[in-house]
Amino acid sequence: MGDVESWIERDIANVWHGFTQMAAYADNRPVIVERAEGRELIDVEGRRYLDAISSLWVTTLGHRVPELDQAVRDQLDRVAHSTMLGNGNRVVIELAEALAPRVPVDSPRFLFASDGAAAVEQALKIAFQYWTNQGVTTRTRYLAFGGAYHGDSIGSLSVGDGGFGTDIFDPLRFPVLRSPSLSEPGAVEAAGDAISAHGTELAAVVLEPLVQGAAGMALMPPDAVAAVAAAARRHGVLVIHDEVATGFGRTGTLFATDQCGIRPDLLVLGKGITGGYLPLSATVASEAVWSEFLGADLSERTFYHGHSYSGNALAAAVALRHLQLIDEWDVMANVTDRSAQLATRLSRDVAVLDPVAEVRQCGLMVGIELAPPADGLRWGRRVAAACVERGVLIRPLGDVVVVMPPLTITAAEIDRIVDTVAAAIHEVTSPDVPAVRDATPVSDQSSDGTTARADH
Ligand SMILES: *Cc1c(COP(=O)(O)O)cnc(C)c1O
Repeated sequence: MGDVESWIERDIANVWHGFTQMAAYADNRPVIVERAEGRELIDVEGRRYLDAISSLWVTTLGHRVPELDQAVRDQLDRVAHSTMLGNGNRVVIELAEALAPRVPVDSPRFLFASDGAAAVEQALKIAFQYWTNQGVTTRTRYLAFGGAYHGDSIGSLSVGDGGFGTDIFDPLRFPVLRSPSLSEPGAVEAAGDAISAHGTELAAVVLEPLVQGAAGMALMPPDAVAAVAAAARRHGVLVIHDEVATGFGRTGTLFATDQCGIRPDLLVLGKGITGGYLPLSATVASEAVWSEFLGADLSERTFYHGHSYSGNALAAAVALRHLQLIDEWDVMANVTDRSAQLATRLSRDVAVLDPVAEVRQCGLMVGIELAPPADGLRWGRRVAAACVERGVLIRPLGDVVVVMPPLTITAAEIDRIVDTVAAAIHEVTSPDVPAVRDATPVSDQSSDGTTARADH
């Protein structure tokens, strides 16, 4: 315990926070977490905050889940980590076996890493080498989408669409073919045309199925995702689905791809894979892709890529238990019920507010887009701060207020989140505009294409 101010001072003196202007860090009143209970984080002064953003989209079942805690403890009594390079580990094998029937990839093989960005890099490099291993040297490009976010390493940043202040790195990014976000009208045709025109140069098309999270929850119809996959197939282009954000139940199915009726060649998993406990990510390759890497020992067909903590045993153990609990607790039924409740409450109490331009929701992924009447009002930042003030932890994407509660959220907690967000919007915006106007429908599909920038 201790007072927040002194912890913030010690924080600034020693820690550099990502996507955070350290000169403004203290002014933005950060929450300094000490511990947690259920879905609430508790700060160094004992104040409680409902974790309505799942600790930046990773927490699924809540914090300090006894079963997950126990899985880590049990694995500690075996081994914390052993290398996956040339050797195996029992719990990693068990995890891959448990994931195999659940992921939307044919006869999958799992290459583990620690962060989503690293798993995206692996997917990009695998797609590239898949072709060179077959003697095809012309397929060296990727098709990616407007509004895309795939991580912050140079390769993942390259397939991403920039923004969040990352444009400064443009000279380092490799060029990709970019097609409009699938949340925009005409985007399927545009992507089809790009694939037709450049089909023989493309190694892969990479996309976030159903929801572009970092774009401010830009939504696309499942058949748009399926249509892009079909076009890619016609031209022999590999399909990479980045489900780092959408995976593990957020969209109402275990994977967003499950709603699209297709099987990508490569699937990228991260964030929720350990329930938010430990850093783990995975690149999932179909057997057809994986088998192109088979050859003589020490030959150039090998995938020469690996990370020190690939397949960390503690992370694998908690990921395995997490997958079991999703079934044992029938977590997806709660996601269905709470998503419906959230949609009802948002359309009744938030979408109708005058400062709200649009509410976008897919499962338990929500973006509430505010429409400030002028630049520089920082509505997103201020509404989030007003929520935190009321004990609900929110972090915006620009002027999009993101709500992404843990999958085990209760009906009462959903009500608390919506009440808090509505009150915060009213408090922040009422001096600027009147509070309520007639219905703005909650769209369950396409956005107006506006992408949130800054305030990642
Ligand atoms: C968060 C995210 C990533 C990057 O994952 P990190 O673990 O932060 O590196 C990649 N793709 C998508 C869609 C994401 O939301």
